[in-house]
Amino acid sequence: MVSLTKATYSVLAEEAIAAFAASLEGSLIRPADAEYDKARKVWNGMIDRHPALIAQVATVGDVVAAVNFARENRMRLSVRGGGHNIAGHATNDGGLVIDLGARKQITVDPAARIARAAGGVTLGELDAATQRFGLAAALGVVSATGIAGLTLGGGFGWLSHKVGLAADNLIAAEVVTASGKVVRASEDANFDLLWGLRGGGGNFGIVTEFTYRLHPLGPDVAFTFVFHDTSSDERLAEAIRFYRDYAATAPDEVSSIMALGRIPPDEHHFPAELHRRPFALFAAMYAGAVDDGLKVMQPFFDFGEPLLNYGGVMPYVEAQQIFDPDYPDGMRYYWKSLNLMQLDENAIARMVEHARRMPSDLSTVDLWSIGGAIRRYGPDHSPYAGRSAAFLLNPEANWVEPEDDIANVSWVRNFIAAMEPFSDGGRYLNFAGFQEEGDVMMQKSFGANYARLAALKAKYDPSNLFSLNQNIKPATG
Ligand code: FAD
Repeated sequence: MVSLTKATYSVLAEEAIAAFAASLEGSLIRPADAEYDKARKVWNGMIDRHPALIAQVATVGDVVAAVNFARENRMRLSVRGGGHNIAGHATNDGGLVIDLGARKQITVDPAARIARAAGGVTLGELDAATQRFGLAAALGVVSATGIAGLTLGGGFGWLSHKVGLAADNLIAAEVVTASGKVVRASEDANFDLLWGLRGGGGNFGIVTEFTYRLHPLGPDVAFTFVFHDTSSDERLAEAIRFYRDYAATAPDEVSSIMALGRIPPDEHHFPAELHRRPFALFAAMYAGAVDDGLKVMQPFFDFGEPLLNYGGVMPYVEAQQIFDPDYPDGMRYYWKSLNLMQLDENAIARMVEHARRMPSDLSTVDLWSIGGAIRRYGPDHSPYAGRSAAFLLNPEANWVEPEDDIANVSWVRNFIAAMEPFSDGGRYLNFAGFQEEGDVMMQKSFGANYARLAALKAKYDPSNLFSLNQNIKPATG
């Protein structure tokens, strides 16, 4: 009689793995392979995990095979789009990664103003394809980010006030569910699933194709990227007040971010006399006629004598890449966020205090204005529940040395704790640190939409196979 010893199990597992590898049109990478170290790494250098298997899928059939393999073998499962998730959910220790990064298919239908894009496409790739037709999808502001994680979490960018979040403009999707079925979700079929994908994260399956509504834009846009001195606390407070008041009355064409920081001591990009000078950066795009945009955004320049100005009229695809150099792969990052319901004098005083304590010259405190189309969509249009906030506050710690981890992570956590009284307690889940607060944070962030999401999770993924994400526990009973 043969007993199922550990050795026998390993042999069986080896055979199963070999059969799985042979079934794929893409590649299965294992720890002994030369490509393994590159394949396991994600954007955030704080994340250093060692999956047992990485399936670099080439086809939808590969995705189905990989989902079935993970489920049947009860493996911990990560899904990777662009690899830019801050918490590093796109990789894990000892489990399977389904990496869609090689799937780059994009089809643009200019007459219908829609684009279909595969799960491994990045923002820059989709922008380049849509701009050939004078169209754009609502996406984010750094071109290397994956459309997948960005859209499934919400997706703020330069078109948000005009047309809504990336998720608001997702009109259909092809999804491989936990049971290995390929399902189409749209306004007409499986609408419940489409609703869940518009901000409910990677909970409901693997999206192999996203279909976006597109909007006429460019090729040139009016773009603001102007730095003002904030050396004194009073000037820093004035900059925040100015931005609050400007955002309250700006037309929907303007989507904007204010970033507070210190000019990094980088002689290639910034004049030496400005190094470490505290700044407020106003970054904004006007989604409309260039001349109108220059006029409407003039107050950003008039706020004071600018320290630096990189804005003007530029191709939309260039504006979409302006932040790219600030976020190299492999640096150390910890970003968290909070829905700010208002910015009164007390909130501004706390922001000034905590912004000044930033340990790294590479970090910033970002304020994203929320309004226009984001708000008009209403609270149950999609899972994203931060539409009634005035601003999204996002202290982002960016640094280089591991010995500075504690100082940087603590700075963000203390900042967020100090600002909680001015918030509804919800976070934007694409900027949620390492999601240390678990279920409590999910419930606060999804608010009244949480129960509907939990029911949807029970329908599409009752055993929580897709758990490494902004995880929603399946409803019971
Ligand atoms: P990944 O790490 O590959 O995936 C993140 C998660 O999404 C996965 O763990 C999985 O749960 C899920 N997922 C990925 N692919 C799929 C798929 N095909 N099907 C199902 N689930 C999937 N956010 C904004 O809103 N606006 C911005 O301007 C913005 N800028 C950013 C700039 C940088 C430099 C970074 C690092 C992040 C930025 N973000 C922004 C946040 C960004 O939206 C999230 O980090 C997002 O998770 C990145 O998606 P990804 O596909 O690259 O990540």
